[in-house]
Amino acid sequence: VWITLEGGDGSGKTTQSNLLASWLTDAGRTVVRTREPGGSEVGQLIRDIVLHHRGDIAPRAEALLYAADRAHHVATVVRPALERGEVVLQDRYLDSSVAYQGAGRVLDATEIRDLSLWAAEGALPDLTILLDLDPGAARVRLDSADKPFDRLEAEQVDFHARVRDAYLTLAAAEPERFLVVDAAASAADIAGLIRARVESLLAS
Ligand code: C5P
Ligand code: MG
Repeated sequence: VWITLEGGDGSGKTTQSNLLASWLTDAGRTVVRTREPGGSEVGQLIRDIVLHHRGDIAPRAEALLYAADRAHHVATVVRPALERGEVVLQDRYLDSSVAYQGAGRVLDATEIRDLSLWAAEGALPDLTILLDLDPGAARVRLDSADKPFDRLEAEQVDFHARVRDAYLTLAAAEPERFLVVDAAASAADIAGLIRARVESLLAS
């Protein structure tokens, strides 16, 4: 079973991932927690470029770096774990690319999605949890967190508003894959909604 978490910066993906991972582990599942970019050794190198390079990266080059990370990650981490029957709990996947690289407005959503699907040989998660949050509220959370510099977290609020819209459009197009949760709710309430959905997924 493959579950991905999506949402803007500051939407609480890490918190929910931690809660869901403990719940799954307590339920006796073997959970592989991973992320993109950076879910493999090669991916760590790519993550360092896309997040910490302090100059512009040509949009097509950036899209290809994310796709390269994804290709290696799916082939060497995700697929093997799924084949072992484990639960893969992953922070960000191709919806992030469509939302973020697409929000730069240079490449369109279809191009980025096609590139990602090519990279991942068409692999799609069983469930994608979208933590939906107003970018203004997310900004407040990020500013109060003590974290190292992220090139993209420094983008303006209007960029993040486009990212949010792109995510909601993706979720509306694939309602059976997505669970959209209001990320302004309490962490416990959100976790409850996620558990309910994951429980039915595991039972199916
Ligand atoms: O969520 P995480 O901290 O791993 O994301 C790192 C940064 O990379 C975020 O600031 C996010 O905005 C950016 N990102 C991106 N395109 C992706 C994935 C992440 O711009 N496909
Ligand atoms: Mg982040």
